[in-house]
Formats: sequence, structure tokens, C-alpha cells
Amino acid sequence: MGGGKGADYHLHGLAHGGPPHTVEKLWPYVEAARKAGLDEMGFAEHDRYLNGLEFGVFAELRRLAPLPVRQGIEIDFHPTRSDLRHIAALPWDYLIGSVHHIGNWAFDAPGEEARFDEWDPDELYLSYFDLVARAARTGFFQIIGHLDLIKIYGHRPTRPVVELAEPALRAIAEAGAAVEVNTAGLFKPVGEIYPSRDLLERCFALGIPVTVSSDAHSPEEVGRAREEGLALVRGVGYTHLATFKGRQLIPVPLDG
Ligand SMILES: [Zn+2]
Ligand SMILES: [Zn+2]
Repeated sequence: MGGGKGADYHLHGLAHGGPPHTVEKLWPYVEAARKAGLDEMGFAEHDRYLNGLEFGVFAELRRLAPLPVRQGIEIDFHPTRSDLRHIAALPWDYLIGSVHHIGNWAFDAPGEEARFDEWDPDELYLSYFDLVARAARTGFFQIIGHLDLIKIYGHRPTRPVVELAEPALRAIAEAGAAVEVNTAGLFKPVGEIYPSRDLLERCFALGIPVTVSSDAHSPEEVGRAREEGLALVRGVGYTHLATFKGRQLIPVPLDG
């Protein structure tokens, strides 16, 4: 059944044009997923578009699509957010917890790169991974998005990243959440999948499940660099990918 390429759960269908969703607007993503040989696909819009997400549109899409379509959401985690419980109460298949901000600094946003120079790199990584740990500890997230996004512009810590990330990785393992192998990093200045191999090896050792995602913002990006992502996951020793339905984790064997 399916194309044997697993599930791509990090798709942004609202990147162009904004809300509302329509089946017509999302259909090119379905076509692209089918062409890419995916077994499943899942939309995970940024939660700032929450008001544009109509569950009825996704129900219609599920009815028409030739492969399972899941509905997730990508939450921009801030430790001060008080609306997570409210958002989590909606019928998502999965919630992706992502750290894009340190304080009020949207570190991955265009034009924000200069502020990296204000930081000691180890402190920067510690602050970032502390937020990742706090996101995991909320218990709301089935998937932690782009685990080492902080490397986006190529700034590296002096201490081993696995050491700096260890409390976050333990929090993820304790929460039973999966990490995402996100191939979009290959197309950012860092030119590398999120997370790095050494971090993924530590995830594997801790028994953390894994997904492989493109973080597509257009249909052309669905399943992008998937073979590289799958090769990394296999190389580290994983034999299964995590899939989610109604927040239940269903492990699916990796081919070959
Ligand atoms: Zn993100
Ligand atoms: Zn995203």
C-alpha cells in the first residue's frame, strides 16, 4: 500500500495567500504528495492562522484524497503562552511544538540574523534548548519541530551540541514525543538537515520516535530531499517512523 515513503507531516498550505483554506488551494499539495510516493500527508499550519483553519475543509480533503490526510498544527512555543490548553482541545491528529523565538527575538526570521552576534554561542544554544525542554514538558506536543533550528545561520556552540541539548532530549523522551527530521534545513544558510546526526543518534539512544518532514511552504516542496532524510534516519539505526492519528502514535516500518 502507498508509495513506501512514509508520512510528511509538516506541510504549510497557507504560505501563499493566507486564510481561508479551501480544498482547491490544498489540492496541489495532495497531488504533490501522491507524486512523491508518500503514504500519508499532514498539514501543520502555523498557529497564528488558527482562525483560518476549518476542520470541514480537511474532512472534505480526506474524503477526496488518494492517501490519508492528517491535520496537525505547528505551535510557536513561548513559555508565557496561556492558550495552549485551549488549542490542544481541538481535534488535531498531532501538535508540533516549535521554538522560533528567544524572548521577543524571532531568531529564524529574515533580517534577524545580526542579533546572533550579541550572544555567547553556548549561552544561545542553552537558552534555545531550555525552551525546547519547556515545550516538551507541557505534554501538549506529539512532535518537536526542527530540533536544532538555532543553527539556521550556521552559528555553532563551542561545547558539544549533544551536551547542551541533553536536558531537552530527556524531556522529550519523558514526554513520549517524537522528534522531526526536517529537510528544510538543507535549503537554509546552514545547509544541513535538522537535527544534526549526533543529536539524532542521542534521540535514538533515548528511544525517541522520529518523523521525516519537508516543512513545505509550496506544493513543489512536498517531500523535498526526502531520501536524504530517510537515509539519515536509517543510518542512525531507526527501523520505524512515527505516524499519528488522533494523537495516537502508530509506528510504521521503514522500507529497505
Ligand atoms: Zn517552524
Ligand atoms: Zn513549519
